[in-house]
Amino acid sequence: MRGLGNRQQFVATVEKALAGGINHIETAAAYGESEVYLGELLKEYNRSDIYLTSKVCPTENSAQFIQGLDRSLQRLQVDYLDCFAIHGINTSEHWQWLQQLWPAIERAQQQGKFKHLGFSTHGSLPLVQEVVASGKFAFVNLHYYWFNQHLAPAIASAYGHDMGIFIISPADKGGQLYTPTVTLQNLCQPFTPLGLTYRFLLSDARITTLSLGPAIPQELNEPLSLGDHLEPLSEQEQRILQNLLDHQKQALGTDACHQCYQCLPCPEEINIPEILRLRNLAVAFDMQSFGQYRYQMLENAGHWFPGKKGDRCTDCGDCLPRCPHNLAIPELLRDTHQRLRGKSRRRLWQD
Ligand code: SF4
Ligand code: SF4
Repeated sequence: MRGLGNRQQFVATVEKALAGGINHIETAAAYGESEVYLGELLKEYNRSDIYLTSKVCPTENSAQFIQGLDRSLQRLQVDYLDCFAIHGINTSEHWQWLQQLWPAIERAQQQGKFKHLGFSTHGSLPLVQEVVASGKFAFVNLHYYWFNQHLAPAIASAYGHDMGIFIISPADKGGQLYTPTVTLQNLCQPFTPLGLTYRFLLSDARITTLSLGPAIPQELNEPLSLGDHLEPLSEQEQRILQNLLDHQKQALGTDACHQCYQCLPCPEEINIPEILRLRNLAVAFDMQSFGQYRYQMLENAGHWFPGKKGDRCTDCGDCLPRCPHNLAIPELLRDTHQRLRGKSRRRLWQD
């Protein structure tokens, strides 16, 4: 999903991944020319040596949806996918659409077009839980990182349903950790913030794989060096992660948002918990740049990053009695808007 502008770089990145022992490639119909580039490249490899995943966005119409799957197979120049995911069951409307698509999806699977069905999501925790509990899927792609553990209950449910669990781009979506702030680097010594993030996920036996999302070959160095380190977190790693929590607590004081989501719904549809999570990171770890990157997607990325920005707050006060930590939510939203606003951006792809 990243670094698609340069075909040579794309090929070099995938070749390095395969040479380094990575055997699962994940793409999507919506990732620009990714499927086309991969189709050309993977012809040189033994198909059965590679687990190939692609994703197609849900539609209301089953013929159109299956055309999307067929197009992905054609672009990838393969006759089957190991894993096929519904790209973004982000709203209950998408989930309703799926109810019409089941017969066509099951037929495609019986025809051998894919082996395992899964879904990726940017939806709310209750929606993710509902989709997981349906028992219709063999795997799920989730946003779950040390810096964002809101979906932890979904990890537990998916594991309970014996599903494969893919984590989406821990380096980028997990906090732009290819370029960590100095504060974060210092707090994570002797490890790197990215290395610790990978270890947090790799040491969790419930998690099947990480979708690394490298844009250039060098971004594979760290994950390749850690890929076999699945052992439980060492005492030192646990201590440093605890120190990060302590530092955050101290830096934020009584303004810390605890990510309980009890303040919702906001009549202005402000994404209060996510905005305050970005504030937590900006204040505690100087992750201003990451905060801006995500904050500026609000109101610009539709259901991929739902909710309104903090400056939409009308001070109606509805959320205040619901916050168990008595946060001055309107003030904190305005403060976050000042810190993280900037030029709005629409991204090529919003995962
Ligand atoms: S006070 Fe602001 S954030 Fe809270 S519910 Fe009202 S509009 Fe939403
Ligand atoms: S209720 Fe309070 S602590 Fe919980 S997510 Fe909302 S603002 Fe944060």
